[in-house]
Amino acid sequence: MGLPSRIQVLGVPFNVELVDFEDEGQCGETMGLHRKIKVSKSLDSKRQWTTFVHEYCHAVFYVMGAASEISDQLEECMVQSMEHGIEQLLVQVGPELMNSYTEGE
Ligand SMILES: [Zn+2]
Repeated sequence: MGLPSRIQVLGVPFNVELVDFEDEGQCGETMGLHRKIKVSKSLDSKRQWTTFVHEYCHAVFYVMGAASEISDQLEECMVQSMEHGIEQLLVQVGPELMNSYTEGE
C-alpha cells in the first residue's frame, strides 16, 4: 500500500510527498509551517512507511506546539521512541485496534 497523499495531524491537513532529496542519506522531512511531510522516493516501501510514521510524529509535535518548546535533540529522541512504539503496537494489535475504532459505525 502506498503512502497517503494527504493526512490529518490532530485535525490539521498535511500533504505527503515522495521526493528526491539532494542529500541521498536523508529519508524524510517535516515542514510544519508548510503543512508538508516529505519522504524519500529512493527508499523501499517498508522504509517509506517507517519514515512516514517518524515524520508524522514530528508533525504531531509541531501542531501541538511542542516542537518550539523543546530542543531538537530531545524532540528527535522522543520521535524515534514513538516511531518504534507505534510500529510495535501496530504489529501486535493493528487489526484489533482498527476494529475497535470502527465498531458501530
Ligand atoms: Zn526525526
